[in-house]
Amino acid sequence: MSNEKLTDEIALQKKLDKIKHAFVVLSGKGGVGKSTVAVNLGLSLSSRGLRTGILDVDIHGPSVPKLLGITEKRVTVQNEEIVPVELSKNTKVVSMGLLLDASEQAIIWRGPLKANVIREFIQNVAWGDLDCLVVDCPPGTGDEPLSVAQLMGSISSAIIVTTPQEVATIDVEKCITFCKHLNLPIAGIIENMSGFVCPDCGKEVDIFSSGGGKKLAEKFSVPFLGKIPLDPDIVKSGDEGKPYLYFYSTTRTAQKFDEIVEQIVNSGKEKQNVGQNEAAIQKTLEDTSEQHKEVSMKFAVPTYQGKLCAHFGHCEAFAIIDTDSSGKVIKEVYENSPPHEPGLLPRWLSQKGVNCVIAGGMGSRAQQLFAQQGVMVVTGAQGEYPRDVVEQYLKGTLQTGANTCDH
Ligand code: ADP
Repeated sequence: MSNEKLTDEIALQKKLDKIKHAFVVLSGKGGVGKSTVAVNLGLSLSSRGLRTGILDVDIHGPSVPKLLGITEKRVTVQNEEIVPVELSKNTKVVSMGLLLDASEQAIIWRGPLKANVIREFIQNVAWGDLDCLVVDCPPGTGDEPLSVAQLMGSISSAIIVTTPQEVATIDVEKCITFCKHLNLPIAGIIENMSGFVCPDCGKEVDIFSSGGGKKLAEKFSVPFLGKIPLDPDIVKSGDEGKPYLYFYSTTRTAQKFDEIVEQIVNSGKEKQNVGQNEAAIQKTLEDTSEQHKEVSMKFAVPTYQGKLCAHFGHCEAFAIIDTDSSGKVIKEVYENSPPHEPGLLPRWLSQKGVNCVIAGGMGSRAQQLFAQQGVMVVTGAQGEYPRDVVEQYLKGTLQTGANTCDH
């Protein structure tokens, strides 16, 4: 091995040493919801306090930035390393879509080039210490999953996403054989778009025959992780770039994602083939409750389409953001706003433990009501993303102007 290659191998190994486990998300074909599942698994893992990376290795059609509502963000370069976009203190994201503008993305990548890019995404990214890295691969068993498996095989396991319609096809079986050939352990199979929960009565209806995922898992002796129903809000949140688990955190579908993650993390304790560091992951999970005790401030930022809403009374959802004592965001979730009845919002936010509301504008009556609840109000805030607004506020760099709706 040449010296240069050896240096590269050492650099890669050093990075892998800091990542406890990687979940490589695969599917037999496109459109089964693989990226949707990948990002929401990542969000669920990070919401438990696990330091999570989300790596989108789809070079031709990266969809992770859209699903997370960060298409306008870009990774930066510091000390010759790519610095991921931080969705929260626990969640770092890297994707080709965060590197290039759409017009530049029509680059033709061939096999060896792709392999190099994927290596760069691991070796030359300042991931820091991660408990888990969720890797969203393009569909099929082509160059990208192969590179990922070859580069990170030692710390990874695969999660295979399928749908009731796709489950019996040769593509999904190919995916399983691909993992077996590469000795990539399979953490399990997820059946997505399985059944429909009636929004009116809550009853679960199987539109297409479901249960195939479980049978497939049994056939190949791999774990079955669970089913995610067909949920119109997933499509809506994806189209609007609102991370599903942030904006719909209390739904039954969100619960299903959480149950799957619970299973993945717990199975780590029992099954050797899910990786070597689950005890550490489990420990981190146990530490999560400790971490929650560290929350020093809880902010609420009124939003419209994921961005700071200038008019408090017209907001669609609130970003509820926890920060720790160092001023870092440790958790960000979105809650749909209750009806804007007089007095309701101050009570509702105060019951959630919010200590500070940062808004573009707010009427004086609402400000009084917040004051009565002991909630601080900052008005005239300018900015886009709620997390940035909070971080700037804590650093003392938040731009504020006139209260935009004190009519
Ligand atoms: P893939 O990565 O497999 O190509 P995507 O995650 O991009 O698939 O999803 C394809 C489409 O299916 C998107 O419009 C997405 O919103 C939708 N989708 C994914 N999962 C679900 C689900 N459980 N219910 C409804 N729509 C879904």
